[in-house]
Amino acid sequence: MASPRAIRVLPPDLQNQIAAGEVVERPSSVVKELIENSLDAGASFLKVRIDEGGIRLISVIDDGHGIPPQELALAVTRHATSKINSLADLSRIQSLGFRGEALPSIASVSHFRLTSKIESILEAASIEVRFGSVGEQAPAVLAKGTRVEVRDLFSNVPARLKFLKTPSTETRRCQDIFERIGLAHLDVDMEFCVGERSRLRFFKDQNLRQRLELIWPPDITNSLLAVNYDRQGSSVSGLIGLPSMAQPRPDRIYFYVNGRPVSDRILLRSLREAFKGQLLSREYPQAVLFLTVAPEEVDVNVHPAKNEVRFRDESQVFSLVLGAVKNALGQAAPEHEPIFGRPEDYSRIMVMDPIKSLNLPIHEPSARYGSATPHSKPVESSASPVPFIPKTPTHAAEESSLRLGDLTYLGQFHETYLVLTRGRDELWLVDQHAAHERILFAKRRRLNEAGSRPLAVPLELPLHASQVSTLESRWQELLDLGFSLSLSPQRLIISAVPGVLTPGQAKEFLSEVASNRADSLDDLWAMLSCRAAVKAGDVLAPDEALSLLAQWLDCPERDYCPHGRPIVLRWSASDLERLFKRAR
Ligand code: ADP
Ligand code: MG
Repeated sequence: MASPRAIRVLPPDLQNQIAAGEVVERPSSVVKELIENSLDAGASFLKVRIDEGGIRLISVIDDGHGIPPQELALAVTRHATSKINSLADLSRIQSLGFRGEALPSIASVSHFRLTSKIESILEAASIEVRFGSVGEQAPAVLAKGTRVEVRDLFSNVPARLKFLKTPSTETRRCQDIFERIGLAHLDVDMEFCVGERSRLRFFKDQNLRQRLELIWPPDITNSLLAVNYDRQGSSVSGLIGLPSMAQPRPDRIYFYVNGRPVSDRILLRSLREAFKGQLLSREYPQAVLFLTVAPEEVDVNVHPAKNEVRFRDESQVFSLVLGAVKNALGQAAPEHEPIFGRPEDYSRIMVMDPIKSLNLPIHEPSARYGSATPHSKPVESSASPVPFIPKTPTHAAEESSLRLGDLTYLGQFHETYLVLTRGRDELWLVDQHAAHERILFAKRRRLNEAGSRPLAVPLELPLHASQVSTLESRWQELLDLGFSLSLSPQRLIISAVPGVLTPGQAKEFLSEVASNRADSLDDLWAMLSCRAAVKAGDVLAPDEALSLLAQWLDCPERDYCPHGRPIVLRWSASDLERLFKRAR
């Protein structure tokens, strides 16, 4: 057996490099730590610069209180911090940093320089660290505050370097973290530069909405609801998007706990719970929510990167956020109206109309299913205590009007399912919402085939800076659909639209595309179809139900909705016999 190797304390630069593995995952983690330090130093202005995705240079300059020259070397020493003294301090952290790890970690994987000046001393001082080895301190020139420069990040850790994405992706991530922190520090003037060029400036004393207007498209920022909620010494404030503005990715959900950006499953769950019934399983709302709780209620020392927290009482936090968001949504929707039935939900509907506005009979009777003549005789409505709309007693003429080929429509069950029989042998339940989604989705297919319609008067769509690049990335797809488009600064000129869309619908479609609310045009279409579709819970008159069914029967892939859920359940008489245990 091999003899044991001696236990040794690792040299400091190796200790730091190991710590760097957790704290400094990529350039954006450096940006986060440096901005946090500036804010902890009471900065009223800070400026971040990123060159080549942060590999070549990340610098952060602030006008905070600075570091005394005799402490510069300590600032780059592990577990040296000015922010806590005792375990008791740790349980009531107010600052963003406290672990004393960030600077030494960053300095162990880069060519690092820290320059700082405190008010009471005339000259600034600077210290350089090359991949963990600390150089001599030297006098420097700096009017006020602190400047940190990080060069050649990870050039001594090729494995990390390889794992980075393209410079533009890494720059984007740096900007994301800058934005996230900036939304929580409205009193600080903050600038983000890429190379020499200023990319984003948050001015001092802008409010949250004004800062969001700089980074989110206007259709979203125009429809944000304020959240303001206090309960038992805790509070939630911020802004949330309307359910009708939901998007397929959770990338506009920002939570903060006591000013610190966090990602947290409980908070996300309570947000979704508050929107329950108003979102599809794959839709996410927008939210920027600030939780303020007593410091002892939350442990921020869970992970070195400090972007996770642990709550002492999770269920209390869950119900706090749930209450706050529900309250905000409730204020948007008057009590007497179901939230989904608010007019603005429908005014956003584009491209295709809810079934109620379909001009009946729309459907050219299909040879396969015979005639779908509208049936106009009023039928008992949902006022009936039994949620089943019975077919009125019959004579032959009416009987045939409820027929589609060999299918006979019996009525609507639970304002959700259409009940049918096929011949004498089959019973069908059709999910009305899913069926309508399928119809609308099938129209999307036809969009490509319907050609292009030139507009006599071109339409103009004003664009926010954030929307131009999104549109450009979809340009060819849009042309393929039949749009004729050109860009003039700040606006999109639409000179032809796909044949199946009205100009108004086309304009709305493009504005949704520009706001990047879906991964692909197909996803966007599926999302919009779903929103426009007849809902579960909508009462359908028999003629409406028949028209819906007739169109649905003509769709390809009609057994499943675009999300993959079944549209129809079928039982044969023998299935029922089995279910009733009559068959042997
Ligand atoms: P922490 O922030 O957890 O204390 P860091 O390694 O990030 O640890 O920083 C170490 C120390 O350096 C801080 O406690 C602080 O005293 C000092 N420091 C770092 N950056 C700045 C800054 N921009 N302005 C003033 N002091 C700073
Ligand atoms: Mg720090």
